[in-house]
Amino acid sequence: MSKIYYDKDGDISFVTGKTIAIIGYGNQGRSQALNMRDSGVKDIVIGSVRDESWTQANEDGFPVLSIADASKRADIVFILIPDEVAPAIYEQEIEPNLKAGSVLNFSSGYNITYGYIKPRADLDVIMVAPRMIGQGVRETYENGTGFPTFVVVQQDATGQAKDIALGLAKAMGSTRAGAIEVTFNEETYLDLMSEQAVWPLIMNVMNEAFKLFTEKGFSEEAILTELYLSKEPAVMLEKMADVGLFKQLPMHSRTSQYGQLSRFGKVNTAPIRKFLEEQYDAITSGAFAEEWSAVLADDLKEYEELKEQAFHNAISLAEARVKANLSGK
Ligand code: NDP
Repeated sequence: MSKIYYDKDGDISFVTGKTIAIIGYGNQGRSQALNMRDSGVKDIVIGSVRDESWTQANEDGFPVLSIADASKRADIVFILIPDEVAPAIYEQEIEPNLKAGSVLNFSSGYNITYGYIKPRADLDVIMVAPRMIGQGVRETYENGTGFPTFVVVQQDATGQAKDIALGLAKAMGSTRAGAIEVTFNEETYLDLMSEQAVWPLIMNVMNEAFKLFTEKGFSEEAILTELYLSKEPAVMLEKMADVGLFKQLPMHSRTSQYGQLSRFGKVNTAPIRKFLEEQYDAITSGAFAEEWSAVLADDLKEYEELKEQAFHNAISLAEARVKANLSGK
């Protein structure tokens, strides 16, 4: 069983006296910085290139410096730039400017797990990784519910890494909901498995159902509204989180419940299991990371091609037509 930390386990005084540099003021950076400031962490600087994020951070009242200067000033550095650009920026602008005993805090395990970032031995390396999109990090702080995180201490040069990790988790508002102790590898593997195994399966189910119903002569409006445009599945997912994957079923009609339960066991899960295992092997062996690095090195050509195909496949084109038809105009 994972250890789970709540507000009573975190002490913000471990971080209030420190200078925190947020490197990257995007989805996560902005929300995490605003939450911590509202929790009483006053000395926050933003490290950014001169772009929209720089302007936004300025407007929000934070001092904004170059990434190198923010790193020089920091006791605690949050790496909140996209994972694929972080290794080069870390090597050139962050690590050379860090004093011994500084803390590196990640929101994703990717670069540590696959060795693209290898922090110096005199640094603390921790992770407070929200299980929540950036906007939700801020909204759930403001409404008081908080958001779950994964929390990790990977390298403890100062002997205080865990106190600091829990202090940060509390300041961000995540120990209200629970900070679950994992390892960098666990965070990375589970995150990638959701993205590469679970969601492609779900998207394929939607896509195949769309193709079949179209062949059977149903209208695009009816099919897509039934499948997901109504947002009924979004409500169901919320109920699954609140009540349970199966225990939300009583909110459906009896016919629906019987249909779902009686067919659940009829699905041939062997090919699903095989697909899951193949992705698991590619993720844990590093084969996916190598593949993605090659795509990045090729100026994202294959990534752009895949997006182009997906955004112009039959279901995407149908969505555009249906949304126009259902716009009420
Ligand atoms: P964003 O895509 O929002 O980018 C963050 C910041 O990085 C922006 O300020 C962006 O500036 C800047 N940036 C982008 N490219 C460069 C570059 N080449 N040089 C310097 N700065 C750059 O990132 P996220 O906030 O989504 O992700 C940050 C971290 O959080 C990642 O490790 C991610 O895995 C993790 N995470 C993200 C979640 C999410 O829901 N988004 C959830 C949980 C974890 P600009 O765009 O203005 O150029």
